[in-house]
Amino acid sequence: GRGAAIVTAVALRLVAQRHEVDQVLAPLRLSRDDLKRVQGLMRREMDLGLGQETNATASVCMLPTYVRNTPDGGEQGKFLALDLGGTNFRVLMVEVGADGIRMASESYVIPTAVTQGTGEALFNHIMECIMDFQLKQDLGDQVLPLGFTFSFPCQQLGLDKAVLLTWTKGFSASGCVGKDVVQLLREAAQRKQHLGLKVVAVVNDTVGTMMSCGYDDPKCEIGLIVGTGTNACYMEEMHNVGTVEGEQGRMCINMEWGAFGDNGCLDDIFTDFDLVVDKKTINPGKQRFEKLISGMYLGEIVRHILLALVDKQLLFRGKPCPKLQTNDIFPTKFLSTIEIDGLGLRKVQAILEDLELQASFEDSMLVREVCQTVSKRAAQLCAAGLAAVVEKMRQNQGLDQLVVTVGVDGTLYKLHPCFSQHVQQTLKDLAPKCIVTFRQSEDGSGKGAALVAAVACRGVKL
Ligand code: BGC
Ligand code: MG
Repeated sequence: GRGAAIVTAVALRLVAQRHEVDQVLAPLRLSRDDLKRVQGLMRREMDLGLGQETNATASVCMLPTYVRNTPDGGEQGKFLALDLGGTNFRVLMVEVGADGIRMASESYVIPTAVTQGTGEALFNHIMECIMDFQLKQDLGDQVLPLGFTFSFPCQQLGLDKAVLLTWTKGFSASGCVGKDVVQLLREAAQRKQHLGLKVVAVVNDTVGTMMSCGYDDPKCEIGLIVGTGTNACYMEEMHNVGTVEGEQGRMCINMEWGAFGDNGCLDDIFTDFDLVVDKKTINPGKQRFEKLISGMYLGEIVRHILLALVDKQLLFRGKPCPKLQTNDIFPTKFLSTIEIDGLGLRKVQAILEDLELQASFEDSMLVREVCQTVSKRAAQLCAAGLAAVVEKMRQNQGLDQLVVTVGVDGTLYKLHPCFSQHVQQTLKDLAPKCIVTFRQSEDGSGKGAALVAAVACRGVKL
């Protein structure tokens, strides 16, 4: 009868809609073959980056760090540490003793106008924060050795000399690229007539994280960050590092894997949504891998997918969503909340309501599915990169099985309900001969910078 006909019509429409949704999301769903290919490409770029002659053509620059050992537990002393390049700027005092590490720290906001203004203003601001911290901690005119975690790509000429190659993550302060950031800091100290800075080491946040986890776990020889940006470092054999003299021992390599794909080698992975997001950043065409993975971009990818679904009448009954048109209105922390297992759909509706979106239950389910698709792809890509790293380390050491620990930091990895699980599962699948443990670092960047500074101060060759 008529009832049955209506039911059939509704069912058919649902099937058709489901099909259309799948068509929109299909390019974001990576097969195992896709991931294996990404792993292979990453490995190729790593080798290119390490070679003296090929380095210039590699999208992964494989930067030497001059850190030659992970901690041995004998490090000691009192240090100042700076952490620039994540969500906040932080100043820390770190005391490394025989009985462990004690720290005090302050977080400071750096306004976007400062991160995108002049270099002078940025480093002035940093100095003001340091001076505020020294006052609050009653440090008087004690001159503590300082470790600087500076989380941007730098060509290091030594432990305490780091030339900024390019800004990432929305920073663009003028007059810094091509300069030694230690020198920029010293000049700012002079402008403020502050004479008590003794910078002994500059480290990337990945390196700081590896070092701080390495203090507790000697198997930690990889550092991973998945936060505002993404990157990894690992211990490489010196004889494989064509860009630094010497064949003996090992050196930590800051991969700068965020730039993987900047030479076009990942173009077929990119979807139209990724391209739109990339185009709107201040560094289009750059940090392509990072833009598929890190917290600064995932929310934007989701937002563009939602807009496309609305456009196709598959979401919010096709009603226009003016607020959703606003850049960055859908931060990545929304993904972390929306994807919480067992979170009531009412909570999802509440989040969407703040964006002036009237979501039905079906709408909420679909928004959640979009978030899951985007964050799962990010985690899998991250695992493909890591698979290349651990497999290389295993081959370097000629082992049938490698047992290694990855020190991890970053808001996305730590706060998202299933990101870490997806990374670990996918890595197991892609690199079955490696037994990989993940250890989350607490205050890794600051602690790690202090540990590198400690070794530097001992005068021991790091
Ligand atoms: C930077 C890296 C950094 C990573 C994580 C990237 O944008 O280029 O140096 O390690 O973000 O903070
Ligand atoms: Mg950080």
